Order: sequence, then C-alpha cells, then structure tokens
Amino acid sequence: MTNYFKNRNLVIATMHQKEVVIKPLLEKELWVSCFVLKDFNTDIFGTFTREIKRTGDMLDAARLKINYAMDISWCDLGISSEWSFWSHYWLPLINSNFELTLIIDRKNNLEIIWHHLSPDTNVNGKYITSIEDVIKTSKDWGFPGHGIIVRLKENSRFFIDKDINNESELEKSVYKILSLPFIKKAYIETDMRANRNPTRMKNIELSVKDLLKNINLECPKCWTPWFTITDIEWWLACWLCLLPTSIPIYEIHTCSKCKFTQKVKIEKYGNYADPWECLHCNP
Ligand SMILES: [Zn+2]
Ligand SMILES: [Zn+2]
Repeated sequence: MTNYFKNRNLVIATMHQKEVVIKPLLEKELWVSCFVLKDFNTDIFGTFTREIKRTGDMLDAARLKINYAMDISWCDLGISSEWSFWSHYWLPLINSNFELTLIIDRKNNLEIIWHHLSPDTNVNGKYITSIEDVIKTSKDWGFPGHGIIVRLKENSRFFIDKDINNESELEKSVYKILSLPFIKKAYIETDMRANRNPTRMKNIELSVKDLLKNINLECPKCWTPWFTITDIEWWLACWLCLLPTSIPIYEIHTCSKCKFTQKVKIEKYGNYADPWECLHCNP
C-alpha cells in the first residue's frame, strides 16, 4: 500500500463498466476516490468492432482515452485499460488475453504502464452458414453469459449487431444476414467489451491486482512509487568452470519520475550459478 496518491480523485476512463472491478481495488490500496464519467464515449478513438480503427498502438490508445477523460473531468489522475489478443509464437493456436493498464498522474508527471497476459479467454470468430451452427458455436463460447457480435463479414462496417441478449435475438440477427440475396454466411465473434465478457473482466481485475502489488516499491531518491524493473543483467558465472550462464544477476530498477536507476542483486540465485544450469558443465 502506498499513500502517495492519498485523498485524491481518480477518473476511470471506461465505457464498459470496468469500474466494477477497478474502483474497489484502487480505493482500498491507493486511498483514492474513483469516479466514472456519465456518457463517456471513446469510440472516436477506435471501436472494438473495428468500424473505426484504433489510432496508433495500444499504449497510444490508452493515453488518448485517459487524457480525454482527465481533460473533460478536470481530474489530474486517471486509469484506463486496453485489450488485445496475443498468440504465443511457439503455440500459435493458443490465444491469450493481453491487458494493458495505464495510470497517469499529471500532478507528479508520472506514468505507470502494466502488462498482463492470461491464457484464460474465449476470444474467437468464425463464419457460420446455418442457425444450428450458430446455436452450437454460441454455447461453446459461453453465450449468453458472454456476448456475441454478428456481422455480415469479418471486417465489414455494415450490418454489425452488438446488442444481442438471448438466443432468439441471436437467431433473428443471423437469419437477417443469411436470408439476404447472394449471402450464404454470416460472421460471428466473441464480444470482448468488459461488460459483455466476464472472463475479460476477471483478467482486468487480475491485471490491476498485479499492478498494485508492484506499485509499492519507492524510488530511494525521490520517493515516487513504481520503482520498477526496466532491465535485467544476465550471465551469472558457474561456480565450477566460472563461465557465464543464462542466469540473471541483477534487476535494473528505474524511477519513472526522476529516472534514477539502481542495480538490485537477485538474491535467490546466490553469487554463482549451479553447474547444473551451465551449458559447459551440463551440455
Ligand atoms: Zn525518483
Ligand atoms: Zn560450468
């Protein structure tokens, strides 16, 4: 727990009820008072359903939203989060939920960026050609507990149905597309907006919890929190042959405010690496 932000207001830049999980966590751990903006709309910066392309990368998008929320609310502290899915390069069929959480503190000129990866996600999308197919697939994807979006084509800007609440509405929506002349298939995808996807909401909660676990370490020079790991120094020597191994020696911490850096010895590996870990002694 850090009292660096104590008694300040913090705006949660969200359109999709992320405050449900974010507000209680931040209020308890940072002693701030969180609020959301009524009718907050960030669709101009890009929508989930790709009618409007997201500007820049995830971090740019998070910054835009948070700054916009802070500007219109006259608040100098804010949080926002962005989602994307992540395919492991060695396991391309397993998708992960990649969550970026950003806190900006204008008063102290501080930016806290946190990444969280979770394999727990229902992210999916495919073309279907029959009502039976859509019923079966939607069950596999956790509908109606998790939302589903119906569209004419994967990247089509027309015929996007984002407000489907039950099976009969889903059938109707798909039927509308399948009964169009010359159209034999419809594209359905999981809705990843937090309020329509409890699995993603859980991932946002986990991400913020992790961020808060890491926020407490303070810079020894200016006492700003978030004295975070920015680099690792490798190649701890093997005690038998003294050749370098792939074990790390130091964590490099950098203050996001004053840029002071410090090498912190990773104690758990000791002063020398076990020959078992050495490519020379244990090829
Ligand atoms: Zn500092
Ligand atoms: Zn060795």
